[in-house]
Amino acid sequence: MNIIHSIEEMKAEIHEFRKKGKSIGCVPTMGSLHEGHLSLVRQSLQTTDRTVVTIFINPAQFAPGEDFEQYPRDYDRDIGLLEREGVDIVFLPDMKDIYPPGYKTYVEVHDLQERLCGLSRPTFFRGVCTIVLKLFNIITPDRAFFGQKDAQQAIILQRMVRDLNLDILIEVLPIVRDADGLALSSRNAYLKDNERKAALTLSRSLRLAEKMIAEGERSAEKIREEMIALIQSVQGTRIDYIEIVDSEELLPLETLKSRVLVSLAVFIGRTRLIDNTQIILS
Ligand code: AMP
Repeated sequence: MNIIHSIEEMKAEIHEFRKKGKSIGCVPTMGSLHEGHLSLVRQSLQTTDRTVVTIFINPAQFAPGEDFEQYPRDYDRDIGLLEREGVDIVFLPDMKDIYPPGYKTYVEVHDLQERLCGLSRPTFFRGVCTIVLKLFNIITPDRAFFGQKDAQQAIILQRMVRDLNLDILIEVLPIVRDADGLALSSRNAYLKDNERKAALTLSRSLRLAEKMIAEGERSAEKIREEMIALIQSVQGTRIDYIEIVDSEELLPLETLKSRVLVSLAVFIGRTRLIDNTQIILS
């Protein structure tokens, strides 16, 4: 496995792959890898000839006062995990090369970036789109792999690729969860024991929504009310948002129909966790 820091060296390797006619898969991450990330890596290994995993904790997607400094970092462990999977290249670019002094260009996907998580994190998706487009320009992947865990992010990146005419297939893979239902996240490392238990309320409220929908409920308000009541019954939780939206424009639905995204963000103590479920109604 090749570990590359320099953008020029990365481009040179891509050039070599292209000369040999190899297809390229890209898995962008912020490191602190878990089975969720590895599910994307395995899919890339299976469906492309060469897999590049990027690890870059992107300051542009953290607002002042968020957890950029504390975000867990364990590059040696990450590299060991990726080596075991059989990844071809780990790309760990330097901050000063990605955002050199005088850096001024950002990518925005209007409207979609302002909804759901965008309400409490107004510059988050601009940061995500900017780094992902930069990585796409450097790596020129045929396919890129993202998790349904960050459903809004995946929808926005699919729109960016479509709007900017990029020839990149975005594959979105299912949420990987712990046995008790908690969606895997690098931020779960922040949770203390009692918080870890309280965090189960996210997935439980989604299972409740799924059950209500399976039993025929189509009123978004009724489902939201039950989810809110369930979450608020657990100490140490604070709802950032619970929304039931269509999974293309991310606009709130009154009556559930076709492709529905139930998405939520909840603070467990000081840790903000997200989770979601997507339901297709006929
Ligand atoms: P991150 O390192 O948090 O930026 O995540 C990198 C990629 O891994 C993103 O595409 C995430 O959606 C995906 N990911 C994170 N957690 C999970 C999970 N539990 N299951 C599946 N994919 C995930």
